[in-house]
Amino acid sequence: MSESTSFQTHQVVVIGAGAAGTSVAASLLRQRPGLDVAIVEPSDVHYYQPAFTLVGGGAYSLAKTARPQASTLPTGARWVRAAARELQPEHNRVVLEDGREIGYEALVVTPGLKLDWDKITGLRETLGRNGVCSNYDPSLAAYTWQCIRQFRGGKAFFTQPPAPIKCAGAPQKIAYLAADYFRKKQISGQSELRFYAAGGALFSVPDFVPHLEKVARRYNIGLLMNHNLVAVNGDKKEATFRFTDGEGTVQEITESFDLLHVTPPQCAQDFVKNSPLANADGWVDVDQHTLQHVHFGRQQLTAHLKNGSRGSQAVSRSGSQHSGAACQGATESQLRRLHLLPHCYWLWQGDVGGICVWWQGNTYATAKPFQRICVLLAGEEARSASILL
Ligand SMILES: Cc1cc2nc3c(=O)[nH]c(=O)nc-3n(C[C@H](O)[C@H](O)[C@H](O)COP(=O)(O)OP(=O)(O)OC[C@H]3O[C@@H](n4cnc5c(N)ncnc54)[C@H](O)[C@@H]3O)c2cc1C
Repeated sequence: MSESTSFQTHQVVVIGAGAAGTSVAASLLRQRPGLDVAIVEPSDVHYYQPAFTLVGGGAYSLAKTARPQASTLPTGARWVRAAARELQPEHNRVVLEDGREIGYEALVVTPGLKLDWDKITGLRETLGRNGVCSNYDPSLAAYTWQCIRQFRGGKAFFTQPPAPIKCAGAPQKIAYLAADYFRKKQISGQSELRFYAAGGALFSVPDFVPHLEKVARRYNIGLLMNHNLVAVNGDKKEATFRFTDGEGTVQEITESFDLLHVTPPQCAQDFVKNSPLANADGWVDVDQHTLQHVHFGRQQLTAHLKNGSRGSQAVSRSGSQHSGAACQGATESQLRRLHLLPHCYWLWQGDVGGICVWWQGNTYATAKPFQRICVLLAGEEARSASILL
């Protein structure tokens, strides 16, 4: 990996060095050593985000979720240390935040999702205070654990915004971890746990729903569907939900809380929304089978890797995988999450590259040696697992 400082045109430009961009770049370089790949990425740190849930649940240290960006980029890729500001696909050009421009023959768009905290009135002012926490930001995940640890009974709410979100299981997982801790501390009796989801079902993959409902029942977590968190008053410790009933009638309901874990609404990054690559919803307009852009795809390779229930058949549809895990034995799942998965991520993410595994109708991104481990761990389901690439 080397750092690019002057204007250049590259064979491939990747925007965003998260899980998706890094593994796509690594995969390309593995197949074509010597390919001129530039990765546009402003952040000095690469986070292993799945472990944020464990940090919030008190089972993992935040320090272990972060590595220097330079150490995770694939060998042979050039690092353009800046944010992309504007996409000009007609000219095969990306304008950077600092005014520089870079050209490309092929473009890979993987800047992740924007966390839209401001869509919930009053949320930003109270995040990290007044019992309002979120695992979706590394600077806040440790506060989630503080809230859970200091909870002495009362009302604990966990929210899920409208789709799409990254890791569709994360909003539930922290609810289960908290419930488990309250049980161990013997304060479940004086605690009221509620899971508020903006959508009409607990999970977007119907097969998982009955299993997850069983888990929620076991922990005595009330499930409130069609409740979208729209405002938080941190000082009064009140949350306002927009509830839509079966007839489509909408009403606002305000409830007091002692602990509120918020999963923020999520959307496409602004520079993507405002670009000629975007569709009406703001996402890169790709063919769902090839991930090539519907108009510019012939000259460019575009892969918009957004996650969640409308996961666009991209190589990372992670949510269902993880809530699926919540249905299995906690010990096996916990061991895998704490020890095996982070290790595999750091070991293989950069230099082996991402690859897809199809399992129970869903596509997951993983590194190649990891495929085999997934299949081994899947037990019975291994028989129906088929490897795509
Ligand atoms: C709390 C939590 C729990 C999760 N749990 C799981 C789990 O258990 N299992 C699982 O598989 N997944 C889980 N995920 C989801 C997983 O982390 C994401 O699916 C994955 O990180 C998405 O990768 P990405 O590369 O698309 O986006 P990101 O990892 O978000 O990376 C995007 C990159 O693009 C960069 N970028 C942004 N804007 C620009 C710009 N303008 N120019 C250049 N670069 C830019 C960012 O700095 C970032 O490095 C979880 C996520 C969270 C937050």
